[in-house]
Amino acid sequence: MPEATPSTETETLRARLARVGERIDASARRAGRTPEDVTLIAVSKTHAAEALRQAVAAGARDFGENRVQEAEGKIAEVGRDAARWHLIGHLQTNKARRAVRLFDVIHTLDSVALVERLERLCIEEERERLEVLIQVDLAGEATKAGASAEQVPEIVAALKTCERLRLAGLMLLPPFFEEAERVRPFFRRLRSLRDGLRAAGAFGAGSREGELSMGMSHDYEIAIEEGATLVRVGTAIFGARTPVA
Ligand SMILES: *Cc1c(COP(=O)(O)O)cnc(C)c1O
Repeated sequence: MPEATPSTETETLRARLARVGERIDASARRAGRTPEDVTLIAVSKTHAAEALRQAVAAGARDFGENRVQEAEGKIAEVGRDAARWHLIGHLQTNKARRAVRLFDVIHTLDSVALVERLERLCIEEERERLEVLIQVDLAGEATKAGASAEQVPEIVAALKTCERLRLAGLMLLPPFFEEAERVRPFFRRLRSLRDGLRAAGAFGAGSREGELSMGMSHDYEIAIEEGATLVRVGTAIFGARTPVA
């Protein structure tokens, strides 16, 4: 079957995706890591389903959305099985049931109460297994979601009692610095927290156990140098987001 002529927009998206992919590979090699150990999550929040379809056509397999409501329509349009869907925004308790139906991975687990709720919802929704990451707030930013490093052990302990939830790793949304290099110490601290949990057997066995979800458009290369296994890149793939009025 002849391939449909790609639109110019698809070509731009394709070129951007390819460039991000090349940079991921280069950063991994620079750090002596295997490029395959880094997964690119295309952060598609605020962009229309059509852009996501183009990204799928260009090879994107993982998408990050930050709002359950917005993701619901887009996932329906693009197809629940067309990609792996990651929730990367704060999860409100009243949206948790829909999140359990919609997402493959939830990056923003930050309380024992949410652990208990998600486990119960998985049972009710007959969801066999749900991968979760604990969002850690390493800067003590009161305005941001995320558990403090001190709260992480109690969340890990709560997850140990769950049958459906599987702790896949840790997620970091660090403070924004104009100078990306300044975020490196936060990436290091998340990795050392992960290493401690890994040594304590929090993740089970396997090379990808204990994922590090860190790094965005302006700092994903630094994040990869510091061990990121899931990078969440929006602007560098889809272009600037129009601010929501
Ligand atoms: C929007 C967002 C991203 C992507 O940000 P870019 O700077 O556009 O790459 C990554 N992670 C989270 C949690 C986000 O909300």
